[in-house]
Amino acid sequence: MLGRVVSILLIFAPGSVFEMIVIARCAKRAVAIQLDCFVVPPSGTSRNDRIRRLTLNVPNYAQNSPPGSTPARGFSFTSGDARIDVVVAVEVAQSDKLITHWIKAAAEAVTGYYGHFPVERLAITVAPRKGEAVNSGTEYEGRRIVIHLDPGARAGDLDDDWMLVHEMFHLGFPKVSRRYHYLEEGLSDYLEPLARARVGQLDASRVWHDYVEGINRVAHKIPAQGLDGTHDWAQVYWGGCLFWLLVDIDIRERSDNKRCLDDAIRAIVHAGGTGGTEWSLEQIVAIGDGATGTGSIRRIHDQFGASGGDPQLDSLWNKLGIHLDGRNIEFDNTAPLSALRQAITQPADQTQLSPRVRP
Ligand SMILES: [Zn+2]
Repeated sequence: MLGRVVSILLIFAPGSVFEMIVIARCAKRAVAIQLDCFVVPPSGTSRNDRIRRLTLNVPNYAQNSPPGSTPARGFSFTSGDARIDVVVAVEVAQSDKLITHWIKAAAEAVTGYYGHFPVERLAITVAPRKGEAVNSGTEYEGRRIVIHLDPGARAGDLDDDWMLVHEMFHLGFPKVSRRYHYLEEGLSDYLEPLARARVGQLDASRVWHDYVEGINRVAHKIPAQGLDGTHDWAQVYWGGCLFWLLVDIDIRERSDNKRCLDDAIRAIVHAGGTGGTEWSLEQIVAIGDGATGTGSIRRIHDQFGASGGDPQLDSLWNKLGIHLDGRNIEFDNTAPLSALRQAITQPADQTQLSPRVRP
């Protein structure tokens, strides 16, 4: 076990109330302990109530390792005014320098969107797992991300990674009940590429190519009863992405492009709505729509969440001036909503950004 990430699984009965303080003192041994606590849920509880994962790091890395062992690695850095603590499992082949560059780039995209990193402190555990270059990322309680690297992942793969940015956006939006899970996943899906585009990490044509391709795949089968309550993977992610795109466009159209989804999402995180909290739909609507004055979240939810409206995508893409033909995408800058489309991937106006709320 020397230098390894030790994984422990605990299962608790319904209604268990537990609080654990584990002080890991593995003298002269560097370890990270990943403690997965699954609470069998009473019906109606949210994901956040059911799964608690805590990774405990022993922050005395190399100097305390016995001769001949390879220690778990750990390091910290700041991104804006946020502190990011990283522990890397011993089997991870990539260098600290490469991993730091990858995490900083992801944090830069998210910081660019909010104007600050959405939480003051984040712990990231990087572990190995065969698969996609970056795979199996999960965010927990607005303060921790666990993410995996394939042993063969190279610098170019990490430069092209979307997953860590996606997980970081979960830090900046509250958990909701399972019925509205598409709001969480769809928002991370929608914000990740546009945030990377705004800081120059992704080309706008790639952003729109992926939106159109992904959304077209699922939108024709939005459930008749709406997105509320859907557990279909594609609907949760791409249906949710479409939901927030429609909200963004609705806000921009009704405010002559002076307001946008940024205002609603920043207001929510400014009001304390991070991934460590759980909000109702009504709270999200009240704070989000209150920031824009357009009622757009409520309106789009009525149309596509509470009922299965037709998003009329062909017309939407035409109005935005987007023509996708296989892998080729062309933009028509004379289309009626082309200015909105261009604004979505333009850098945020830093003068409009509010400071992070400090509890
Ligand atoms: Zn997600």
